[in-house]
Amino acid sequence: MSSVISSHNPDAVSRAVGVLNAGGLVGLPTETVYGLAARADIDDAVTRIFHAKGRPMGHPLILHISEISELDRYAIEVPLPALTLAQQCWPGPLTLLLHKTEAVSSLVTGGRETVAIRIPANECARQIIKQCGNAVAAPSANIFGHVSPTSAQHVVSDLGDNVDLIIDDGNCSIGVESTIVDFTTDQPQLLRPGGFPVEDLESIIGQQILMPTGESRASGMLASHYAPRCRVVVAETIDIAKRALSDYGNARILDHWDNSPLYAASLYTQMRQADEDGMEAVIAVFPPKSGLGMAIRDRLIKASFL
Ligand code: AMP
Ligand code: MG
Repeated sequence: MSSVISSHNPDAVSRAVGVLNAGGLVGLPTETVYGLAARADIDDAVTRIFHAKGRPMGHPLILHISEISELDRYAIEVPLPALTLAQQCWPGPLTLLLHKTEAVSSLVTGGRETVAIRIPANECARQIIKQCGNAVAAPSANIFGHVSPTSAQHVVSDLGDNVDLIIDDGNCSIGVESTIVDFTTDQPQLLRPGGFPVEDLESIIGQQILMPTGESRASGMLASHYAPRCRVVVAETIDIAKRALSDYGNARILDHWDNSPLYAASLYTQMRQADEDGMEAVIAVFPPKSGLGMAIRDRLIKASFL
């Protein structure tokens, strides 16, 4: 069994730093989902992330830093709007895709010349990264393609012994992954809607963030991802969802259409719970597209893809 320590334990930060510096893996709480962290400058540790998750090596990892002053160690040619977002939105659920420096191993970027970077808002996570003295690479701490973990228990049940230490900081406050914006193209592109609403980002930079073009660059852009074992069916309204219920022997409705923050914070827990309860299907009512609704709709569509 992997060991779990409360974030309130005074030894939590130093134990996590010890594990990371020895090339181990730490289940790291963030405001979006729990991450599976390794020091980004230890190639063996980064390789362990891919093995633990069953994640294809070509799928790049997000670098997590603790201070904006660390940005130029890992990224070059940062455009002004990207810097503006970093200054105004970090720490927070926003990941910027930028051109990488030599300091970033190509293992982290899946061989690409670009790197995805963010500063998580979770205080314990930031302390760990800061004291580690190097950025950590951290994808979500789940088996590849499965539902992301939003509690320490979810990490234990997905990864068990494959993670050396898990920091338990309770449930993630946002509950869906970060918004990823690509600033390496002529105009910024939205690679993944997430915890930071895109319309808020657009109003900060006074510029439109376009839908992505070209080949899929984020694993969140795969057609099927974030999926529980049971079927996920999406419905535009609660009435449609209720009618769909009778198509299944054993199904339940997910519906917080009037409260997207609550919907996001409970979505993955509810999907995992449905599996634990042996549900055949969950029927999820779409929230409105604004705010966190865009990310929730995106995850529901990907989870529903057969
Ligand atoms: P996760 O799967 O939760 O680790 O989410 C990380 C996301 O960031 C994935 O969708 C990655 O593909 C994406 N990402 C990280 N680095 C890059 C990169 N250099 N280019 C494109 N996407 C990236
Ligand atoms: Mg993931």
